[in-house]
Amino acid sequence: MGWVSRMGWVSCMGEPTGFMEHGRELPRRRPVPVRVRDWREVYEPFDEASTRTQGARCMDCGIPFCHDGCPLGNLIPEWNDLVYRGDWEEAGERLHATNNFPEMTGRLCPAPCEAACVLGISTDPVTIERIELEVAERAWSEGWVTPKVAAVATGKRVAVVGSGPSGLACAQQLARAGHAVTVLERAERPGGLLRYGIPEFKMEKHVLDRRLAQLRAEGVELVCATAVGMAPPPAHGGGEGSEPGEPGRPVEGGRSVRPGEGGRSVEPGRSVRSVRSGEGGRPVEPGELRGIGAACASDVRSVSARDLLRNYDALVLATGATVPRDLVVPGRELAGVHFALEYLKPANLVQEGAIERSPIDAHGRHVVIVGGGDTGADCLGTAHRQGAASVVQLEILPEPPRVRSADHPWPVWPVILRTSAAHEEGGTRRWSVSPSSFVDDGTGRVGALRGTEVRQSVEGGRTIFEPVDGGEIELPCDLVLLAMGFVGTELRGAVAELELALDARGNVAVGPDWSTSAEGVFACGDAARGQSLVVWAIAEGRSAAAAVDRWLMGESGLPAPLAPGQAVLR
Ligand SMILES: Cc1cc2nc3c(=O)[nH]c(=O)nc-3n(C[C@H](O)[C@H](O)[C@H](O)COP(=O)(O)OP(=O)(O)OC[C@H]3O[C@@H](n4cnc5c(N)ncnc54)[C@H](O)[C@@H]3O)c2cc1C
Ligand code: SF4
Repeated sequence: MGWVSRMGWVSCMGEPTGFMEHGRELPRRRPVPVRVRDWREVYEPFDEASTRTQGARCMDCGIPFCHDGCPLGNLIPEWNDLVYRGDWEEAGERLHATNNFPEMTGRLCPAPCEAACVLGISTDPVTIERIELEVAERAWSEGWVTPKVAAVATGKRVAVVGSGPSGLACAQQLARAGHAVTVLERAERPGGLLRYGIPEFKMEKHVLDRRLAQLRAEGVELVCATAVGMAPPPAHGGGEGSEPGEPGRPVEGGRSVRPGEGGRSVEPGRSVRSVRSGEGGRPVEPGELRGIGAACASDVRSVSARDLLRNYDALVLATGATVPRDLVVPGRELAGVHFALEYLKPANLVQEGAIERSPIDAHGRHVVIVGGGDTGADCLGTAHRQGAASVVQLEILPEPPRVRSADHPWPVWPVILRTSAAHEEGGTRRWSVSPSSFVDDGTGRVGALRGTEVRQSVEGGRTIFEPVDGGEIELPCDLVLLAMGFVGTELRGAVAELELALDARGNVAVGPDWSTSAEGVFACGDAARGQSLVVWAIAEGRSAAAAVDRWLMGESGLPAPLAPGQAVLR
């Protein structure tokens, strides 16, 4: 059977009835009692035959709605079919044509493409994400992923601030276009939330390091422990919020060192700790001393954004949306109440061998996580691996339905109950609960969380939560993790120094060409979009790279999958 596909090539969809003959299948997760004893990824391998069978389920739709679900514009039916036929190398080519880091989205993406898959109208959608991962890993293991060094250097220099997926995708695209790219990152090591937010059991860090080696081989310079912007970047608790006397306390008397502390500014390019000595009196390298629980390395240098603008032809801000939403209730200041990232970062530092034990360890603790989303689930899985005595996860919203409701018809992203691997490992989820205070245990540490059950309603277009009569609760706990999302990018640092305009939601405002209000300065990723997903960060990084390339050269051959603010199916 053969016909001319929408791509204009003869398509021979290998198994035209595959979607009727094969059910959806995914690899098994490792048994819970085994996997909570280690930090390795939770899925067992998926064999080649199973992956090819799953590829056969793709209908090669005339209108592939899966494309509309994905901001990257992934060529999904093409690689599904190539996998079915066993042409893994070509499938890898097509995967990389639209995505710089498919091995990451293949592990981390909530897969809006699958929510939009046409097969999902009547049965289970194609396992697009798993096929993506298998193709990506095959490409790595066969040695097909190699550095793509630009043939011609343009002589232009670009500085990218922030090394999360958006900054890295942008940097890689610009380097491939021939520009000299430097990525500046204030944390100890590059990767943004891929390294210090997302736990190992979702993505082991060698996956990130392997890709970083490719970027370096392509000429991207990665400079860490360097904060851009004259004002001090906030650490969001961390050192200060750490618990007195607990093991693994941060350096410098329990405080993470930040540039310009106490309001003083730091000279550009100068390390605030460059004079301190390490073991045996040797000088400490920037980034060697870890900013445990803090957003930046303890030994961070400060670099002026204006200086960067003088030394580079363009500046891209990919600084993320790192300001966490706080819970302003009585007792918030008690020891043992932390933002999620104050907890997740040191847990990741333990895994990379930088510290022996986290200063905020859940071992033996009764943990309450406030926030029922993915960040909360990452705290949950981490707490179980650390040996928590109990974990309760609270969510103010009511429990979502298990299947699509009429409000979320195919192909939009459905609000349904999602049970991640971490939820399978234990803990209790409670819905429609709003915390009202934290109770002191008599020593200055949290001893309980008080709250109330709430009822959600909509009044005048606004969602409100009313307490339910008799719904008061008190949960004994000695560790509380606030995972209620992020309100946006930090307004100090580079944003303040460059006096950048913000949009109505407080993100860095960008025009249609990703340019900010400052000449030669561009922004992408969570810094411009607000809290989002890895796949959006990559898509924005790629699109911003094309805009920067055009701005520098007058034209660009780089792909631009997105316009700023563009949404896919909702
Ligand atoms: C705990 C957690 C788990 C998540 N899990 C998932 C998931 O499973 N799947 C998914 O799709 N999405 C997930 N997300 C969301 C996803 O990680 C983000 O949307 C994505 O990382 C945003 O990429 P980014 O490059 O814009 O910003 P980030 O990854 O936040 O990177 C920004 C970087 O900029 C650096 N920076 C900031 N200011 C400065 C400065 N002044 N100077 C120098 N450097 C600076 C920061 O240190 C950081 O490294 C998760 C988020 C969190 C918090
Ligand atoms: S919508 Fe689903 S079945 Fe159709 S082409 Fe995309 S992955 Fe295949």
